[in-house]
Amino acid sequence: MTTQPGNGEHSFVIVGGGLAGAKAAETLRDEGFDERIVLLCDESELPYERPPLSKGYLLGNDARESAYVHEANWYRENNVDLRLATRVRRIDRFASEVVLADAERVHYDRLLLATGSEPRRLDVPGADLDGVLYLRNLADSDAIKRVIEAGGPIVVVGAGWIGLEVAAAAREHDVEVTVLEVADLPLQQALGDDEVARVFADLHREHGVDLRLGTGITSIEGADGRVDSVTTSDGSSVRAAAVVVGIGVAPRTGLAEDAGLVVDNGVHVDPHLFSSDPVILAAGDVAAIEHPVLHERIRVEHWANALVTGPHAARSMLGHDVVFEELPYFFTDQYDLGMEYVGYAPPDAVDSVVLRGDVAGRAFYAFWLAAGKVVAGMHVNLWDDGIDPVKALILDGGAVDTAKLADTAVPLGEALVRRAG
Ligand SMILES: Cc1cc2nc3c(=O)[nH]c(=O)nc-3n(C[C@H](O)[C@H](O)[C@H](O)COP(=O)(O)OP(=O)(O)OC[C@H]3O[C@@H](n4cnc5c(N)ncnc54)[C@H](O)[C@@H]3O)c2cc1C
Repeated sequence: MTTQPGNGEHSFVIVGGGLAGAKAAETLRDEGFDERIVLLCDESELPYERPPLSKGYLLGNDARESAYVHEANWYRENNVDLRLATRVRRIDRFASEVVLADAERVHYDRLLLATGSEPRRLDVPGADLDGVLYLRNLADSDAIKRVIEAGGPIVVVGAGWIGLEVAAAAREHDVEVTVLEVADLPLQQALGDDEVARVFADLHREHGVDLRLGTGITSIEGADGRVDSVTTSDGSSVRAAAVVVGIGVAPRTGLAEDAGLVVDNGVHVDPHLFSSDPVILAAGDVAAIEHPVLHERIRVEHWANALVTGPHAARSMLGHDVVFEELPYFFTDQYDLGMEYVGYAPPDAVDSVVLRGDVAGRAFYAFWLAAGKVVAGMHVNLWDDGIDPVKALILDGGAVDTAKLADTAVPLGEALVRRAG
């Protein structure tokens, strides 16, 4: 059966009911599109935001509903045909239809892929035991919450953002946590700077995390099919009621690949977010965007990217001539440390990192420089000025005086070097 609108009505179909998909539907209506919108999502939950899953929701401070992008009524009132627990199996580009798991076909005039990403799986003996957990959806967060409430202990594999946030939540409940990280410092790939990474290592150790750097996991041991310890690369055994794996994510590109779209670490899209097919777009974690400001193809796995690319794709679906120029932005909250980061600093392009403020006291800025210019920056706990002055330096694109940049007595804007004429 094919679901097709009557009366020549256009059908805009969105695959993936995460933040990017739900925001795209909202923008289509806000921009006055009054024809058919179908939002297809394989999860059975209303579209929701994921950051609370490792923070307020996991801690038990925020209600489940607070993560929802919209209440259930919103979809009804805005005539968005939201179909939960509905997986798209394939795209039939020849017929302009998506094929659902139950073989129903849904016609599209424009199709937005907002399928997000999925956790990379751990590949060691014992990885299939009960109690080996990942964190991507609400059910995953519920499972980790139950382990925390039962008192742990927990072994976290990977000291990236997700692993560290889970460790922080567990420590806030006084649960014993061991974090295993093969690199010499946490967040090394994300931050590319040892001094900044050490801030996070110290933070976690001060809160009682047993942070084992340069240490991997070689196997997971269990009793009665359930985890009870892990063996690390240095031969130690660590007791564990659960193992939480946070070793990165991969974009969910299967549909796009099978449909023959250009895919390589994400669905390739132009600055309007159109893929290699002129009626198919991509947004959020799954989109690898040809970025007109950064002059590179980038794929960003962060909340703010889903928040802005969903609406951007919606405007492109409507034929607006909009170019995506937003800089990557992300944030984290761990214990009493709040951080925001903006910009793009591939490690091989960065010449130096300049710090400004009280690093030991965890109230500082860090700037990543390439060819004398700020290409990315972050602040830790400096909420009065926040991230906007950093963004202004990046967008200005001028060279900076690094001594002034590091000097808290000099306003950030005055760190720019201005040449006469
Ligand atoms: C625990 C956690 C904490 C995070 N914390 C932060 C943070 O602090 N700061 C930050 O910047 N970012 C954070 N992120 C990242 C951020 O949440 C993601 O970048 C964002 O969710 C991406 O949104 P999306 O809409 O692209 O994809 P997703 O949110 O992954 O949504 C995609 C949806 O599509 C569905 N889907 C996939 N394939 C199909 C199909 N074939 N048919 C139907 N449906 C399908 C999926 O099930 C999913 O529901 C966090 C992520 C997680 C998991």
